[in-house]
This record gives sequence, C-alpha cells and structure tokens, in this order.
Amino acid sequence: MTQQLLLFSIGPVQSFIAQARKTHDLRVGSFLLSHLIDTTIDELENQVKECEIIFPYKEIESKPNRFMALFKSSNPKEVGDNLEKYIQKEFEEIAFSVLEKTGITKRDGFTKNLEEDFKNQITNFLQIFWTIIPFDKDNYSKSYLELEQSLGAIKNIRSFNQLEERGRKCSLCGERNVLFFREKRAFIPKHAIHFTSVSRTFFDDELCAVCFTKRFVNWHFNKKELQDYPSTAGIIFNNTLKKIDQKLKNDYKKILGKEFDAQLYFEENLTENYFERNDFPFSKLDEAKEQLKAIKKDAEKKGLSFPKYYSLIMFDGDSMGKWLSGAYLADKGQLQVFHNEMSKILGAFAKEVREIITEKEGRVIYAGGDDVLAFVNLEHLLPVLRKLREKFPNFGELSPKSDNVSTASCGICISHYKTPLGRTLSWARRMERQAKDKIAGKDAIGIAYLRRSGAITKSLFKWDYENTSTVESLKSFDSLNTLGTLKELVNLLQEEQFSSTFIRHLDEEFRRLMDKDGKYEEQIIGKNEEEKEEKLGLIKMEMQRLITRSCMMEKKEKESDKKFSERKRKEIEKLVERLNILYEKSFSLENFLAFLDIALLFERGIR
Ligand SMILES: [Zn+2]
Repeated sequence: MTQQLLLFSIGPVQSFIAQARKTHDLRVGSFLLSHLIDTTIDELENQVKECEIIFPYKEIESKPNRFMALFKSSNPKEVGDNLEKYIQKEFEEIAFSVLEKTGITKRDGFTKNLEEDFKNQITNFLQIFWTIIPFDKDNYSKSYLELEQSLGAIKNIRSFNQLEERGRKCSLCGERNVLFFREKRAFIPKHAIHFTSVSRTFFDDELCAVCFTKRFVNWHFNKKELQDYPSTAGIIFNNTLKKIDQKLKNDYKKILGKEFDAQLYFEENLTENYFERNDFPFSKLDEAKEQLKAIKKDAEKKGLSFPKYYSLIMFDGDSMGKWLSGAYLADKGQLQVFHNEMSKILGAFAKEVREIITEKEGRVIYAGGDDVLAFVNLEHLLPVLRKLREKFPNFGELSPKSDNVSTASCGICISHYKTPLGRTLSWARRMERQAKDKIAGKDAIGIAYLRRSGAITKSLFKWDYENTSTVESLKSFDSLNTLGTLKELVNLLQEEQFSSTFIRHLDEEFRRLMDKDGKYEEQIIGKNEEEKEEKLGLIKMEMQRLITRSCMMEKKEKESDKKFSERKRKEIEKLVERLNILYEKSFSLENFLAFLDIALLFERGIR
C-alpha cells in the first residue's frame, strides 16, 4: 500500500459564515461547517490505515473549511469518492432531520413538490473539492506543492449545477427560492410552507432549504452552546446586565414573555411599532416602560451604561499561503516537520483566543487556526486586539536559520446594534483586506466605523511603527504602538485632561485642503524641498498649538506652579509625539483625521 496525500475542501464558505441576518446565523453557520469537516475527518480515519491529519490541528474547536491528511491506501480514488458521498449524505440527513423536528413533514401543506424542491436545494448546495496524490516521502515539499496546484486546477475547471428556479428568492442568501416564510408575499412558490411555530425574533423572514436548515440546525444537534445565542444587543451589554438587580430584570422579562430580546433594554424600542413587528402585546407597553425606568435608574446608580455600538473583528495571519509553501524556510527539506509544528501552535493559538475573548469581552464565532471572527464590545476592544496580535505565533521560530517573522492583520467594523449584520460583516472583511493590501508589509489594523446615519469613517495603520518587534511592543499600551496611542488619546479625553475641540478644529482647518483622495501632501509636490518641508510641518505645528490650547489639566493640591507646568508640558509633549508618528506614517491626511474621529467614538461610546 502506498502513502497518499489528500487535500479536501468544502464550500461555499461565504454561505456558512457570511450570509447572516442574526448573530445566531453566524454562530450556527460556522458550527455546521466545522461539524461537516470534523465528521469527514473521522470517516477518513475509519476508512484508511495509518492516517495522519496534518491540517488543521485535530483538537481545535472550530475547524476551517479544508483539511490535509496523509494515509495509506491502494485505492485512493475510492477513498475520495467515499468521502464526498459521505459528507453529502451527512448534510442531507441533517437537513431532513431538521425538517422533521420542526413538525413540517407531518403538516397537510407538506407536498411532494416541496419535498422535491427541498431535496434539490440541499443536494445542490455543497461544493466539494478534493485531490489525492501519491506521497513522495523523500520530497514532502514537492508533494505539497503538487497537491495545492492540483486542487487549484480542479477548482478552476469544475462547475456546479445552477438551479434554475423561478420565483421569490430567499431573504438570507438571495440565491435559492423561498420554501419557508412568515408573511405571505408575491412570487412565493405555492407549495412553500407558512411557518409560524417559533417566535418572530427567531424567524421573521423567507428562507430557502439551506438557510432554513442553518437557522434551525440546533433542532437536530440540540447543543447547549447554540441555544439562546444572544442578539448583538445582548452581546454588547452582557457586562452591564450582569450587574443589574436580578429581580428587576426578571420582572421585566416576565412582563414581555419568552420572546424577550435584549433590544428591549433600549427605550427607543418600547413603541407600538416595535411591539407590533415583534408580536408583543400593546397592553404591556406602559407596564414595560415603567419597569425599564426602574432598571435604568438602577444602572445609573451603579454607573452602568447601555452602549449602542459594538465591534465585529476579523483577524488572520498574513501571507499564510507563502508560509505553508515553505517560501520562508531556510531548508525546504524541513517542510513536513514545519507543517506539523505550525499546525500545533495554531491549535494552541485558537485555544488562547477563547481565553482572550470570553463572554465578558464578547463572543467568538470561530477561531480556527490562524483566523478569528468575533464580536467584541467596545469597552474591551483595544485590550483584545492587543492580546490577539501579541499572542499570534511566530512561525519563523519554528524554522532554524530563518529570520522571517510571521505577522497578522485585523479588520474591525464598529457598528450600531440596528445596522444589518450582513453589512457589518462585509465591512469587517473589507477592512481586513485593505489592511493587507493598502499597508506595505501588512501587519496592520483597519477600522471602519459605521454611523447609524450611514456615514463611514475608516482608518488603516500598522500595529506598530517605532519598535523593532511588534510583538514585544504590544505587550503593553505604553510602548509607542498604534493601539497604545488610541487608548492614551481616549483616556485623556475621558478624564477630561484634554478637550476634544482640537480634533474638530484640526478637521475643520485641513479637510478643505485635501485632494479627492484625502491627501494633503500630494498637492505640494513640484515645489522645492524647503517649501515642501515647511508645508508638511504646518500640520504638526498646528496640531501642537491646538493640543496645547485644548489641555484642561488642573493643578493638584499642594503642587507648585513650576511642577504643574512641567507636568502639563510633558503630557502635551507625549501626546504630540504619539500623534506625530501616526501622522507621518499615514498614507493620507484623511486617514489620520479618521483615526482621531474614531478616538472620539470610543470616548463617547464606552461610557
Ligand atoms: Zn437561502
């Protein structure tokens, strides 16, 4: 029997982890993907001899959409075909089990037509790719390269059945026909099911077979961790709620019944309109308002707030394909050992992520190897980001004689709790991509702040500019790193050591001087060096002047005038120095002003 190398991948990934209207959709989507990969790995281990899973690390909780394995078999094609059939069958079984458990199969409206459409949508959903090549044990590196190329080629030529369906499309994926709906609307297929057995907060849309299976998948799995997954509002003020008087909370929930959602902690939702949309009885409205008042009073007494903004972060390793290919290794002969080690430390990182982001900080949607998707409340965002980057493993250390260092980038979207989740997700992804594409050498963060009004402020910076080791610098906020500067600025504004007027004035004075790309410097090109230098210095000088003017520090008791002015001078100098670094490194003036604007959001949002 010969040794075989297998690469197996399933998609469409977007459908599992991007098409989401509710936090629950995201969570179950990534769970389902992970489950399918997990069981396929188990199946492979049952089928073949001497099986070794190279990627991902077997113990990580959320598996990515692909795996790589080494095993012995004399009939590799049969192994691959069997795995493909197996995963297809597993998904079908889950889907039909969900259908049965929701009681739909026993209803009068459950027709042959519906069953047929359901089955069609389910069986045409998964895109499974795999390739197996004979393993050359003397040249792992060559085998690996061949394997990746082979899978790439298969992905390029293989096409999948496109379902030709006419009619109203699913409100989640927009791809397949609606088979389950809450409200009857035009063009919904006649045999679709009118489903009202669950609360509106859980199901108020029009779904296809795949999205319905995803939404209701826990009716099949019955996992505690997938039950009652909080809405964005619930995630944002988890910490506040914990400190509110238990009885007050319970009574409030009792008034509104079991469809209760954390959004009801916002006064703005105690309206007839909201109650009607979510099936709450109008008769309870006044009572609810009274009770919420009592809760807010308790919160105020305890200095607690109910923030409306939260963040979604997407973090992952830079140039992972290159690392995997061994491009950074001094000796490619070491690739197999390197892969094993890399897999292990990424597994350890995934575990660490779950310690960095607990329910106190937010919720991890997935942490599968080098990439992480998570909700983080603003109060904890900066420390979480700092720790994630600090703990990200350096693959360079696994390779002797190499001085390459692995890096990671992060996209962050700060959103209002009512902003559609799909939009928040796509901005987090976009910022992650921009951090890698627009910042030389990657190793960067990109923050987009979506205002409720629709306006977007975005800013991109490297994690660090000043220090030789980003990881060392990120061990604390005190080093001159970008997050440290943001934190310092937010603190100074919150403690009212400085007034935020300098940010507004800087913006007012310089925004009109920028060109259409948000650049100021470009307009100076062509002038002589001296003049250029002078103009560039202008912003710095103005920043220094405005910051000095906005300083509101007060003299301490028994502090001498001299000591006070010295302390003040130092504080101003420190802030100016930090901001100058970012201004100098910023690819545009607008990018820098956006950074200051984001600091303002933190100042207001966290309180
Ligand atoms: Zn759908």
